[in-house]
Amino acid sequence: MATIEYDRLYIDGRWTSPASDDRIQVIEAATEENVGSVPAGTEGDVDAAVDAARRAFDDPEGWSNWSPARRGEVLERFAAALEARGAETARRVSVQNGMPLWLAQNFEAGFPALLLRYYSGLVAAGQEEVRAGMLGKKVLVRRDPIGVVAAIVPWNVPQAITFLKLGPALAAGNTVVLKPAPETVLDAFLMAEAAIEAGLPPGVLNVVPAGREVGAYLVAHPGVDKVSFTGSTVAGRAIAETCGRLLRPVTLELGGKSAAIVLDDADLSSTIESFFGATLLNNGQICWLGTRILAPRSRYDVVVDTITGLAQSLTVGDPLEPATKVGPLVSERQRERVESYIGKGKAEGGRVTAGGGRPQGLDRGWFVEPTIFADVDTKATIAQEEIFGPVLAVIQYSDEAEAVAIANDSDYGLGGSVWTSDPERGAAFAKKVRSGTVGVNGYVNDPYAPFGGIKSSGMGRELGPEGLQPFQLLKSIYLDEANDTA
Ligand code: NAD
Repeated sequence: MATIEYDRLYIDGRWTSPASDDRIQVIEAATEENVGSVPAGTEGDVDAAVDAARRAFDDPEGWSNWSPARRGEVLERFAAALEARGAETARRVSVQNGMPLWLAQNFEAGFPALLLRYYSGLVAAGQEEVRAGMLGKKVLVRRDPIGVVAAIVPWNVPQAITFLKLGPALAAGNTVVLKPAPETVLDAFLMAEAAIEAGLPPGVLNVVPAGREVGAYLVAHPGVDKVSFTGSTVAGRAIAETCGRLLRPVTLELGGKSAAIVLDDADLSSTIESFFGATLLNNGQICWLGTRILAPRSRYDVVVDTITGLAQSLTVGDPLEPATKVGPLVSERQRERVESYIGKGKAEGGRVTAGGGRPQGLDRGWFVEPTIFADVDTKATIAQEEIFGPVLAVIQYSDEAEAVAIANDSDYGLGGSVWTSDPERGAAFAKKVRSGTVGVNGYVNDPYAPFGGIKSSGMGRELGPEGLQPFQLLKSIYLDEANDTA
């Protein structure tokens, strides 16, 4: 099959020559074959991209000063151009990172347009409010765009995560420099094609594919006003340090080690599809997955058997095949990392009830068997650290109070789920879990609700109306108008 090659970068509204001849090679997760390459962005390219974004933002007649409705027309064209490329976007993501195609068609093809339209609508609904002040006069409270946004995204759900940032940022009138992860650049270039077709004005969106050093350069760039980052906690801490020094607003969506708490009245087998979605989706490579399974002592064997049966039933293979439930991991490095955690789990006394190795018959590609560890101690490494692969740790609890304590015994706090035949009991339990989001009998991060983490899982929120605020500046104008009620 022909490889996908790009020779130029999307900067300042057009394809421009990169500053260096270096290239990023993209490898197919399932075959380890080269599937394409793009120019590797450098500091010089970041300079050009930030300059273009700065000029576009500062233009008094430009994007940031357009009416929301006018921006909305362009973003609607962008949404339509992305939809027209949806099937190819899904295919590229699946090939690059191993995401099963059916999932990529849902997350990666669908979410970008949906989020552009949602945030365009929110901004159009009004960004100004006149309030009666306490001291007798009126106050005008405005929400202005914050400026040039540096958006840095990971490889695991690259397009949906990109649009958690681009949707609100662009709708609010900001300009953006996007740095995709090197593992998933081909989908970002397809997105740039859509932006060109939609006629985004020059500089409003710029894409610089690169690794962490160039990412760090972008974060610290003097022309940047706001950083929005999704990725590992290690990188998030480094970025937060830089932003702290610069007093630069930053949103951080980081790692997780969420708990899936099975209550003693749950019938897991009747919700097994949802349970799969909440714990093992995307080959275990999603930050909010519940990878610690808390099982009641009274029904421990049933829960372990059900989860073991689930793991053993999953079809592992080519992510482009419709029957595949679990594809390969994104890279050799990621598989080494996951396998080293499986080794630690065994060394620390966990009992492997499913998987634990590489699937037979799949000699190429970075596959790992869906793996279940039972009898895991809450202090064990695989119960505390994020693995980012299809590996679950089952931990036993004796009563609800202990279940809450174990659920909250984590450095992280991003997702989580409660499983029960009584939805009210589930909601009451969910309130006790220290986490930014928790699902009852499933986990679906609904775009209308704020999503994000606490503790080492990050700072700030995306999605919902709250996801717009980090891209806006509040400004109060104390009017010379008396309150009507005064
Ligand atoms: P990573 O942190 O290594 O890389 C993520 C992105 O940040 C990449 O584009 C990378 O090039 C860039 N980057 C890395 N270090 C940087 C630095 N110091 N300065 C600027 N940019 C830098 O993470 P990864 O291994 O690619 O992704 C997996 C991690 O992302 C997991 O830990 C996962 O939990 C987390 N994640 C979190 C969320 C969320 O919403 N909370 C979503 C997806 C992934």
